[in-house]
Amino acid sequence: MGVLAQCPVCKTRQSVKKKVCKRCGEDFDKAKAAKRVNYWISYRLPSGKQKQEAVRDSIEDARAADGWDCRGGGIRGDVPRA
Ligand SMILES: [Zn+2]
Repeated sequence: MGVLAQCPVCKTRQSVKKKVCKRCGEDFDKAKAAKRVNYWISYRLPSGKQKQEAVRDSIEDARAADGWDCRGGGIRGDVPRA
């Protein structure tokens, strides 16, 4: 499972860890601050099929759905490896 950020410019979905869009170079830090980034979660169904679902502009929802928190002190308090 993973959380994806969708570029507001070219609509490419990619890792939320990216600082700039891998396709068009859009500055994600700025775009996130302006809430222009939509988040998606990707996960695998029991059948093995990959599914991606939009969670709009709430990364908290995405993280809750994914059981993941990147800053620590979150749902599980995990601190991710960079
Ligand atoms: Zn882009």
